[in-house]
Amino acid sequence: MNATMDKTEILAWLRETDAARLAELWRRADETRRRQVGDAVHLRGLVEISNFCVRQCGYCGLRAGNTRIARYRMLAGEILEAARQAVKFGYGTVVLQSGEDYGLTTSWLADMIRQLKRETPLAVTLSLGERSDRELAAWRAAGADRYLLRFETSDRHLLDEIHPPLGNRKRDRLAILRRLKALGYEIGSGIMVGLPGQTYASVANDIELFRILDLDMIGIGPYIPHPGTPLGSGFQIFPPVNGEQVPNTELMVYKAIALTRLVRPDANIPATTALATINKKNGRELGLQRGANVFMPNLTPLKYRRLYEIYPAKACIAETDVKCHGCLNARIHTIGRHIGQGPGGRRNRDLPSAERGSRSRSHPQLHTDVVLSRALETVEPLRVADPSTLRSTATEDGRSDLARLPQTLESSSHA
Ligand code: SAM
Ligand code: SF4
Repeated sequence: MNATMDKTEILAWLRETDAARLAELWRRADETRRRQVGDAVHLRGLVEISNFCVRQCGYCGLRAGNTRIARYRMLAGEILEAARQAVKFGYGTVVLQSGEDYGLTTSWLADMIRQLKRETPLAVTLSLGERSDRELAAWRAAGADRYLLRFETSDRHLLDEIHPPLGNRKRDRLAILRRLKALGYEIGSGIMVGLPGQTYASVANDIELFRILDLDMIGIGPYIPHPGTPLGSGFQIFPPVNGEQVPNTELMVYKAIALTRLVRPDANIPATTALATINKKNGRELGLQRGANVFMPNLTPLKYRRLYEIYPAKACIAETDVKCHGCLNARIHTIGRHIGQGPGGRRNRDLPSAERGSRSRSHPQLHTDVVLSRALETVEPLRVADPSTLRSTATEDGRSDLARLPQTLESSSHA
């Protein structure tokens, strides 16, 4: 069981139910984590800077079509204050996350990044959706270090149903990841586990893709249904036949984390908030003991936190940042680990993969679409009960959002 594990083995592990065998998987993942990235748990302070979004992802509570949430965009002073708090707590990174919000203009955000880098020693990670090359280049030039963009699932048919394109703009997160890498960002991606219509074979493909892409960070969380979204409120995707549907359970998430650690030993892997949401008691600790090495404590001001409702009952929406910090400290020490110092980027990231200890099959020139097509060869096409339901809503709303775009840019509260 190692980084050369093939897809058949990965699939067998994803279906494994024997507790003793699984205990062996956890042990191997934990041992690999300790050997490759050590006992430090790196903390990334998460600031959810805006919940505006022009997209219509079928799974997410922030989708433009959800009119039931009040929208907010944080002020520059509020973001800087959250970053200062990150420094005070000893975090090495601040993660600025939002919906795909074009009210966060290129120049405003570039100024914000410059100010953050001037005032703090923090690494700056962005997670702002599918922004243009020009924007990504401007933010990198301003000092942004990393970018998170999950590919969500490698099953293209499924993704087409649940993550519709914006107007006539093509959706291609892998191409954006390639461009981010060329711009010099550390790149992070990831998936949701247990999406309706997601098969064991497609999660095995996702893990293969983690191995192939030279990712610095890999985020894996359970899909959590949100009743205000098409996917969470009855939009029917025919379940895959013969028990092939992957459950959105914590056990499946632990398996995906552990296998990812084994195929990508040197990656930074967070124990995600979504995992903490489905097991508030000790989901994060178990994630850390089964391959993960990063935590993302929430630094969003309390008055906004409840409004960043990607899915319901999110962990840590009512605790102050001070309380969150204390709680995480205690959890990390309880499992015999310690908090990492400094930005905590991927170790030896500029070395060829063989010298990093990762036996990833990544190749700098590899064209990921070709790789993805290969990885997808075995995935059965998805059947949707009523394809018009999601598509028509998405196209209509997507268009009207695009039409509103120039106005949103003009009327940005940051101008
Ligand atoms: N808008 C940016 C984007 O889509 O990349 C960043 C913010 S988005 C809320 C961050 C991540 O939340 C997504 O990549 C997706 O994996 C996750 N997410 C959205 N809805 C979810 C749900 N219902 N359950 C679990 N995770 C979800
Ligand atoms: Fe917007 Fe991201 Fe949610 Fe999609 S996942 S609706 S892009 S916030």
